[in-house]
Amino acid sequence: MISSMTCPVCGKPVGTSTDSTAAPFCSDRCRKIDFFRWWDGQYAIVENLPADMTDELQQFPDLDTELPSD
Ligand SMILES: [Zn+2]
Repeated sequence: MISSMTCPVCGKPVGTSTDSTAAPFCSDRCRKIDFFRWWDGQYAIVENLPADMTDELQQFPDLDTELPSD
């Protein structure tokens, strides 16, 4: 039984000779590309904090003064 996995990044078939550390990607390069795509998505979510989240933070006006100063 032959498994015909394809790289989710570039679509190339992932062969048995592929470095297993890169699985399920065809190469370490594609693995990193996928990671950065994922990271970029997470970062975008952080950048777009909802307005109510900002309001919650404003309920703690002393937050700045209580930060360690050293
Ligand atoms: Zn690939």
